[in-house]
Amino acid sequence: MLHHLLARNSDWAEDRRRADPAYFERMAQGQQPSYFWIGCSDSRVPENVVGGLDPGEIFVHRNVANLVHSTDFSLLSALEFAIDVLGIREIIVCGHTSCGGIAAASRGLVNGLADHWLEALRRLARRNEADLSAFPEGPARNDRLAELSVIEAVARLAETPILQRAWARGDRVSVHGLLYRLSEGELRNLDVTLTGAHLGRDAKE
Ligand SMILES: [Zn+2]
Repeated sequence: MLHHLLARNSDWAEDRRRADPAYFERMAQGQQPSYFWIGCSDSRVPENVVGGLDPGEIFVHRNVANLVHSTDFSLLSALEFAIDVLGIREIIVCGHTSCGGIAAASRGLVNGLADHWLEALRRLARRNEADLSAFPEGPARNDRLAELSVIEAVARLAETPILQRAWARGDRVSVHGLLYRLSEGELRNLDVTLTGAHLGRDAKE
């Protein structure tokens, strides 16, 4: 299997060099991505591919069920680097339909270590019981929980000291929530974007 991957890589690199001889030299100079993507580890939601983007265009953090935990130093380090060093101004949390992490959280405590990671989802489901019960149990209700989880993640990001500091100094950073529909291949904007305006401050250039 690894041999297969390495052979595919070799073909890809050769194709790129043929199309653009300076491509890899340019890549090695540095990155200037426009977006920071927080997405699920799911193999069916590769941000570059579904966003139609080339290497170098999107900075990425992915975890099971695209959760934002305020104790996740891997995510927070990437977020801080994205805003403070790379100067990225578009932050995206992207959930997706048919998410295995969401389904596991809905099933209850059966997954070992993942149960701890997914605990926040079970709490979110309990808090939104009335909303969720309007959807039939199973995929439809899970997909609604995926939406609610993205909305929650956007709000949690906005509360991090990293975003609060960025907005306080006038950086025009936006945090968006999207949902990717696996059965259609479409990204849907959940229209829950936060720009710091909710803090009562006008973002400045
Ligand atoms: Zn997922």
